[in-house]
Amino acid sequence: MTAYSIKELHHLLITKKITPSQIVADAVANLAKHQVLNATVTELVAEAKALALKLDQMPVPSDNYLFAIPYFAKDNFATKGIKTTASSKILENFVPSYESTVTNILKENNSILLGKSALDELGMGGHGLYALTGDVLNPWDLTCITGGSSSGSAALVAAGVVPFALGTDTGDSVRKPAGYCGIVGFKPTYGLISRYGVFPYAPSLDTVGYFTRSVEDSAIVLDYLGQEDHQDATSLKSKEQEYFKNLTPATSKQKFAYLKNAHLLLPPEIKTHFDKLYRQLANQGFTVTGIDFPVDLLKALLPVYMVISFAEAVSSHSMLDGINFGTRVDGDSYEKVMINSRTEGFGHVVKRRYVIGSYAVSKENQTLLFLKAKRVRRLIVAALRTVFQEYDILLLPAASSIAPKINSIKDQILTEAELENYVDDLLVLANLMGNPSLTLPLAFVDKMPIGINVNAAPFADQKVFNASLLIEKMIGIKNTVAPEGGKNNG
Ligand code: GLN
Repeated sequence: MTAYSIKELHHLLITKKITPSQIVADAVANLAKHQVLNATVTELVAEAKALALKLDQMPVPSDNYLFAIPYFAKDNFATKGIKTTASSKILENFVPSYESTVTNILKENNSILLGKSALDELGMGGHGLYALTGDVLNPWDLTCITGGSSSGSAALVAAGVVPFALGTDTGDSVRKPAGYCGIVGFKPTYGLISRYGVFPYAPSLDTVGYFTRSVEDSAIVLDYLGQEDHQDATSLKSKEQEYFKNLTPATSKQKFAYLKNAHLLLPPEIKTHFDKLYRQLANQGFTVTGIDFPVDLLKALLPVYMVISFAEAVSSHSMLDGINFGTRVDGDSYEKVMINSRTEGFGHVVKRRYVIGSYAVSKENQTLLFLKAKRVRRLIVAALRTVFQEYDILLLPAASSIAPKINSIKDQILTEAELENYVDDLLVLANLMGNPSLTLPLAFVDKMPIGINVNAAPFADQKVFNASLLIEKMIGIKNTVAPEGGKNNG
C-alpha cells in the first residue's frame, strides 16, 4: 500500500478510502520488513502513529498533497528534540534545539516524519558504506551498494517504505543513489530550497534534494519546499512557481543534447539503452544532438570538486571540536581536547578529506590548488552555460554501471585510469553551476536499475520536470518498488 505515490495516497485520503493511521500502519509494517537494509538511524514509530491518530480526526485538505504523507529525513536535517547525528560519531548524542526549515515546512503541512535515515558520514561519500550505523544495502540486491551519501533515504523510497525522503546533494548524493536504486532523485536550482538547519558540507555546492518514485511526485514536493527563507543567506526569492500544475511533457520545441565523448565511454550494455532513448526521441520529432564538451574540463571535474568541497568542509566543520560542538573527549589542554575529540569523533574518509582540504587552503598551496580549482570551476560553468544557450536539456548517464557490489568497493585510491574515465563524475556539473538536475530510471540491466540524468539551465526547474515527464512516459518505468529480498525474489 505504501508503494502508492504521494499523488495516489492523497487521492485515497480525499476519497476517504484510507486514513492517516492506515497509511502509517502500512509504512511501519514495511519498515519492519526492511530492517535488513540498515537504512535508518532513528525510527519514530510511536510518534508517527500518534500524529496519524490526530490527523484521522481532521478533514483532509483537498489542496494539501503532503497531508498525512509519511517520509524520512536524512540525518543531517536538524529535528528539534530528535537526535541528529549526520551519521558521525562526533554528533552521536546531538539533539538539536532547532528545526530545519524544510522539516518545519513538512511539519506545518502535517506530513509524518517516520524517522531519520543513514548517510555517509557528514555527507562525505558516494557509497553508503561510511555511516556510523554501518553499510546501507541496495533493496534490489542486498549485496550491492545504494550509492551515497543519501543512502538510507534512497533505500527506503526504493523499498516502498515511504513515497518520498529528504536528502542533500553536494556532488551527486541524491542523483547517484537514485540511479542505483531505480527511483527519481531531484536537486533543484541552488538556493531554491532553504538549507537552514541542514548540516553543511561544502556550502558553495550543498543543495537540499529528495527522492520520490515518480516525476509528478517530485514536482509536488518542490511546490512545498521551494520557499524563500530569510534564515538562509543563499535562499532565493521564489517566483510563485506551481511546478505540479505546470507539469506537462516537454514538446518537440525543446532541444536535447548529450555529451558525445562521455557517451562513447559507456559500456555497451548501458550505452544501448541511451541510444535507444535518443532514437525514440528523434522518432518523435525531437532534436537530440551529441555535442563536444572540452574533455580537459570533464577530466577536471573530480579534482575540482575534491579541492573545493574538501576545503570548504574543513571550515564548515571546524566547530566540531568537542568544545563548541560535538562529543567531547577529555585532554589536559584545550588543544588536546580538540585533538582527542576529532581523532575519536571522525571516520577515516572524513579525516582524509580534512587533510587534503587543509593542504589545499594552506598559505603556500592556496594559489596552486584552491584558487586554481575555483578558476577551473568558472571555466566549467562557462562551458556549460554555452551548452544551455543552445540547448534546453542536457542528458547525462547517472552512472557508468549498475550499483557495484559492496565487496568491490575497496578503500579507493584514485588511479590515473579512473581519472581518465570521468563518466561517474558528470553529475558534479550541476553542483558547480547550481542548475536543476533530476535522475530517473532508464532501464534494467541484469535486473538492476540504471538511471538517466536530466539537466537544464539555472531556474529552469520546470523544464527539467517536463523533460523528465516526457522520458518517464517513453520509458514506462514509474512507481517501481524493489521486490522484497531483492531482484531474485521478484
Ligand atoms: N559522492 C560525492 C562525495 O563523495 C558527493 C557527496 C555529496 O553530494 N554529499 O563527496
